[in-house]
Amino acid sequence: MSINIQLHKNDLPDDLNLGNIIAIDGEFMGLNVRRDPLCLIQISTGNSDAHIVQFDRENYNSPNLIKILNNEKITKIFHYGRADMAHIKYYLKTDTNNILDTKIASKLARSYSDNHSLKTLIKEFINIDISKQFQSSDFGGELSPSQLKYCANDVIYLHRIHDQLIKILIRENRIELYKNCLKFLKTRVELDLAFFKDDIWSH
Ligand code: MN
Repeated sequence: MSINIQLHKNDLPDDLNLGNIIAIDGEFMGLNVRRDPLCLIQISTGNSDAHIVQFDRENYNSPNLIKILNNEKITKIFHYGRADMAHIKYYLKTDTNNILDTKIASKLARSYSDNHSLKTLIKEFINIDISKQFQSSDFGGELSPSQLKYCANDVIYLHRIHDQLIKILIRENRIELYKNCLKFLKTRVELDLAFFKDDIWSH
């Protein structure tokens, strides 16, 4: 399968229509929000395409992207949106609205497994073995073709995986639980940004 990868500097182009359900992922210099800047945002429409926005990390001037993130009418599918949304909020200064999340869906649907990595889900539902070799790589500078392909892999399968997980959630009567977890996601991100890192429900 050939993937149409487009690299954009700082923002999406003005006239780009990505539809009303997009898959999205971000790459950072690390997992500590304040220390580790947001480097990239990748978006796919689910049709073997990936739009990769590489930020000028001096000012994060990305009005077209921010409009999409903020838009309540455009659904965004993440895999573990908690980390991406925190970085987005901190660096792009916007809430991300209308979220789905394949990792949360997987934890609720696939209680037969304790592995909810994207690699595992791609293997189980798409039957492709993807390399995670570039997961820990330097996304701050010039990107190699291998890095671009890795970034694209993180978004191009999310629509199909989410569809499959939803089927299980409906069959197992866990769909309401999933929807209610999604409602809390924005608050979980706010807690992270306010340094409440632990599970606030634990004793
Ligand atoms: Mn990624």
